[in-house]
Amino acid sequence: MSDAPSRLDDLIGQDRPVTVLKNAIRRDRVAHAYLFHGPEGVGKSTAARLFAQALNCERIDETGDGDACGECRSCLLAARDGHPDVRVITLEADEKGRLRTEIAIDQVRQLIHDAHLKRVLGRNKVYIIDPADRMNQSSANALLKVVEEPPSRVVLILVTSHPASLLPTILSRSQKVAFQIAGTEAIERHLQTQGMDETAARLLAVLSGGRPAWALRAARRPELLEARKRLLDLCVEMDRLPLGASLRVAERIREEAEQVASLVPAPVHAGQSAAGRAALVSGGDGLVVPGPYGGGHRGRSAQPGL
Ligand SMILES: [Zn+2]
Repeated sequence: MSDAPSRLDDLIGQDRPVTVLKNAIRRDRVAHAYLFHGPEGVGKSTAARLFAQALNCERIDETGDGDACGECRSCLLAARDGHPDVRVITLEADEKGRLRTEIAIDQVRQLIHDAHLKRVLGRNKVYIIDPADRMNQSSANALLKVVEEPPSRVVLILVTSHPASLLPTILSRSQKVAFQIAGTEAIERHLQTQGMDETAARLLAVLSGGRPAWALRAARRPELLEARKRLLDLCVEMDRLPLGASLRVAERIREEAEQVASLVPAPVHAGQSAAGRAALVSGGDGLVVPGPYGGGHRGRSAQPGL
């Protein structure tokens, strides 16, 4: 199942931020620093890369709507993370191969040095800092210089699920672009366009709690859908049985639901019972309402979002 969006318009359920970004390009009113913020897994990191791509698309005047063409040399390089004027500053591995927990000041110094060099190919030099909340105090202070006095045609995109962790001076000088939990219908539709059947698409959309990244990852895990099929079969069986026998089937349903629950990553469904998930799987119409992002707890997932 191919799930790599090649244009901003391909992002699932993020119409509002996509419109803001496309309008900025279309009207040639691109800010020097953006803050992409919102819950984990809703597409911020992908949006940053696609915005960087659109900022350097060679046919941007032809598309006319501020979105990248997805086909020119520049777009193809950007899609492979190989555009010489687009850099992603993220957590790096240490000498033992473990992911560092902070974005080091040397990485930011390198960014500053690079930002003053000539552009190689594109119209803009774009630096994506993701996750931006992992800059330590000295990295953030170093970055502040560029945010306050940006070289021309340099665009910074800070990506974070924890905007409150950033320096207030950086926050105040960045244009904020909010990403939201996507509607489950949008995710369901997308999964169907990728060839998934209607009920499976609905199940994953609801289980994802509005996080397309999770739904797309789950779509690549057949064991989740196989467990769902076993559950549905058991539910049909239970309907046909007399009470005593159906109670035994109910117990098997509970076990299968636990199995499904173990396949669903905790952050999406923290607090939701296996029985609640079983209701979803067996055709219930419940909608998972995730908690507000950054609401007091910092789910320090080291992996930048999709
Ligand atoms: Zn292009």
